[in-house]
Amino acid sequence: MEVFPARPRRRLPRVLPPILDETLDSYASRLAHANRLHNDDLHAHLTGSKNPAAPIQARALATVTGYPLDSLHYAMLELCGPTDLVAMSITGRPIPGGLRRPACYQCTPPASPRTDELRIGEHAWRWSRHEDLLCRRHQRWIGDALSPDTAQPSLTKQPEILAANRRHRRLIKHHGRDQVRLALGSAHLICTEWHSRGGQFARDYHRLMATFHRHGDIYYRDGPTAEASRYPQIIALTRLLASPTWRSRALHDNLNVEPPTEPFSPLEDLDRMPERARRYYAGVLQDGPQLDIFLAELRRTVAPRYRWDPYAYHRYYDPLVRWIKDELKPDPGSPLPPEAYEPGWIRRLASDLMRHPRPDRLIESEAPR
Ligand SMILES: [Zn+2]
Repeated sequence: MEVFPARPRRRLPRVLPPILDETLDSYASRLAHANRLHNDDLHAHLTGSKNPAAPIQARALATVTGYPLDSLHYAMLELCGPTDLVAMSITGRPIPGGLRRPACYQCTPPASPRTDELRIGEHAWRWSRHEDLLCRRHQRWIGDALSPDTAQPSLTKQPEILAANRRHRRLIKHHGRDQVRLALGSAHLICTEWHSRGGQFARDYHRLMATFHRHGDIYYRDGPTAEASRYPQIIALTRLLASPTWRSRALHDNLNVEPPTEPFSPLEDLDRMPERARRYYAGVLQDGPQLDIFLAELRRTVAPRYRWDPYAYHRYYDPLVRWIKDELKPDPGSPLPPEAYEPGWIRRLASDLMRHPRPDRLIESEAPR
């Protein structure tokens, strides 16, 4: 039976305003929930079609909510055509189609009193910029919401995490959004891998986690508190990787490395060669004065006890070594779209790869020795 046979002509009994940058799906879902309708039925009512891909028009939303068309357009840029966008001031706002995160539970309280978890249909989701990881007004961590734990932990006792976000925003002003997004993606991968090795890299992480959790608390390893506790170190590394000066220091000593002049050939025993020649023929990074300055800054600001080791062990390189090697490739190109560098996207990609190993990796691991 069709609940709504034609396009809407009347207001819904219960309406609620969209929040700024709310996704259209989220708003439609909240409207359906408020009116005790199934999402599909409201969608069919708004579009006049049972096709779930039929787009919702701003005019239909204006009819069922009673809100002016301009207000809906301004709140949800997804509803806008090119001419609508020209007429509005939207500089600095997130672009629909990119990263999505839940809205702060305290900025958009649901109808029911519990505000400590994400409930589908009640809580709003927003288009988000990469720095929108926390609510500055309520000092709550929002994060990428990739864990089953959907709490938004308080940051009132975590000044380092709040300061890291201010630094994140300053970096964007200084180096530009795209540059920082790329650096943040790399820093996120590097720091997450360091943390998974624990020990020397995880000291600050454990200190911040101890402020979030009492001894004996159970929490998800990739939950919001873990995400927030990694964040200051990720931003400290982002500062170096986004800066042209620090990047060039990291790479300088390994650009245009000349072949060694000693009378050795690559066919001779690598162990008998001087260190520099051995590294050259083994494709291992060289040490140098500029790299030393970079590593000193890294130890001062990111990882105090970082030990530089350019060699691979069982084909495993330290992630920072891998980053430098990748940056040195003549034309690394980028097969990934820009949003691929957002941390949440990368994590999902990485977990997909873990679940579905590439065929060539399988062949390599299964090959007879
Ligand atoms: Zn808030």
